[in-house]
Amino acid sequence: MTVDIHQPYDDNNIFARIIRGEIPCKKVFENDQVLAFHDINPQAPVHILVIPKGRYVSWDDFSEKASDTEIAALTQAVGQISRDPALNNGYRLIVNCGHDADQLVPHLHIHILSGKELGAKLI
Ligand code: IMP
Repeated sequence: MTVDIHQPYDDNNIFARIIRGEIPCKKVFENDQVLAFHDINPQAPVHILVIPKGRYVSWDDFSEKASDTEIAALTQAVGQISRDPALNNGYRLIVNCGHDADQLVPHLHIHILSGKELGAKLI
């Protein structure tokens, strides 16, 4: 089921459970504010999900309610992960927000895709 931008945060969503360590993940980065791990169903040779540890349903929710510290931490984490030599040839960032973007997991996540020519862009 797709995410409704205005739905309340669900503490039992899969990424909340990954943050709490109840479900394993292939971790690539972690600090106090941010966790990053490999997507379970990769769409490219490199497919990493970067998530804030705070309780945010979507980009919409995060951009409205997150503190400057959380916003900076997420941005810097994406930057740090993307400077890995494996991404030297470029990468694509995707954030699906809400129903029309087919967001499936109701916890904000930034997709990092890389490792091949990624092909046609939507825009
Ligand atoms: P969305 O469509 O932007 O919400 O993307 C959700 C992503 O989460 C998809 O690419 C899924 O493959 C990924 N995903 C779902 N469950 C897990 C998991 O348990 N571990 C890692 N990735 C997951």
